[in-house]
Amino acid sequence: MSVKTRFAPSPTGYLHVGGARTALYCYLHAKKTSGDFVLRIEDTDRERSTDESVQAILDGMEWLGLSHDEGPYYQTKRFDRYAVVKEHLLAEGKAYPCFCSKERLDALREEQMQNKQNIGYDGHCRNLTVQEQDLSQPHVIRFKNPLDGVVTFDDLIKGEISVSNAELDDLIIARTDGTPTYNFTVVVDDLDMKITHVIRGDDHVNNTPRQINMIEAIGGQRPLFAHVPMILGDDGKRLSKRHGAVSVMQYRDDGYLPQALLNYLVRLGWSHGDQEIFSLEDMVHLFALEDVNRAPSAFNTEKLNWLNQQYMKSLPATEVVNHLEWHLEQQKINTDGGVAVELLIPEMAERVKTLKELASAIRYFYEDYQEFDPNAAKKHLRPVARQPLELAKEKLVEAADWSAETLHQIVSDTASELELGMGKVGMPLRVAITGAGMSPDLGITLEWIGKEAVLRRIDKALDFITKREASS
Ligand code: GLU
Repeated sequence: MSVKTRFAPSPTGYLHVGGARTALYCYLHAKKTSGDFVLRIEDTDRERSTDESVQAILDGMEWLGLSHDEGPYYQTKRFDRYAVVKEHLLAEGKAYPCFCSKERLDALREEQMQNKQNIGYDGHCRNLTVQEQDLSQPHVIRFKNPLDGVVTFDDLIKGEISVSNAELDDLIIARTDGTPTYNFTVVVDDLDMKITHVIRGDDHVNNTPRQINMIEAIGGQRPLFAHVPMILGDDGKRLSKRHGAVSVMQYRDDGYLPQALLNYLVRLGWSHGDQEIFSLEDMVHLFALEDVNRAPSAFNTEKLNWLNQQYMKSLPATEVVNHLEWHLEQQKINTDGGVAVELLIPEMAERVKTLKELASAIRYFYEDYQEFDPNAAKKHLRPVARQPLELAKEKLVEAADWSAETLHQIVSDTASELELGMGKVGMPLRVAITGAGMSPDLGITLEWIGKEAVLRRIDKALDFITKREASS
């Protein structure tokens, strides 16, 4: 049977990094064997599920490039199917209506706590006769969990897990209003969708024995299970909003490349020797559930930043530009008519960690800066810089052509004519044309900014020096 995995998020919030990592592992495990990856939206909790959240999940998956082969299925569209399976279980005596009131259940719980017993339903309605069941009265439907025996499964990550049935109570599979519950819909779907591998967060590991019992009662084939340990924040607590950006789309907004985030997520809990960089293709080849760590992993933003920079430097520039464009738009930087953005990537990626920073770092190639960086101006736009700037400007006006080589020559001629070191000309000029003290090679920077803007900005720097002289 070919492999089929599914990612089954509940749309009650955004797609967070934990979910994204689970989705990635599901995706990789399917693709590794040319199997199928299913997306299923578990939206039966109608109070907490929202359309925005569904959209956030779809957007996140698309941005990450984790495309599904089947779905998205929506559980709310499958209620008829769950009802059929429920009726079937009832008819076979594998489920039963339970009329216990909330008061009775609360009292039961209270008593179990006092007696330090396992908390759970006591099977009060399990053996009611048909005559005793008044279906006109409010009731839920419970699954008849086996009373004895042990449920054992071989978790592909955690190893063998066994739970005694005595510890499991009769789970509600349909609420008073008839709507099905989580554990039941998951089982019906995994069977109907012929899922071979259930890969999910280990917060679900306690549900698995119950689900296995239901699978057996329905008469289906048990999938294999792999429970992925959770992700912790750098303080050792479970990763949550408190640790900053946890929504996948927040990472897009903050300037990360999806390739970098995927690479980061695959390594968070899995390794292959000491290899750090994995293309999606590498991951598909090398990933193995068996190699996923059993222990939780801690999120490390520094590492993610490092990877992001590696990807900015190593991906084809056009690919980086595809993702950079969104940030340019956000920061209202119009690159029309300026130097091709692709050319800037290899020069600038070294200096920044994120696409957001990259967009803002290349702004001066396309528009005049508003203010000088105060430190750079203080240091380099001093009265002694006036003469080199004026002479350089004169020469730039006359430049035979506007190529990096010629422009570089002009800077060096200016320095020798004034008997100054290159830095005494180059630094004021750099601050004049970029507004700050860092840029790629000066000749290239001059060429890419363009003649008109260079001359205009040198005037701006000269004005600045004049004002500075006047106020001192
Ligand atoms: N819908 C569940 C969740 O979002 C996951 C269910 C599963 O993977 O079995 O936590």
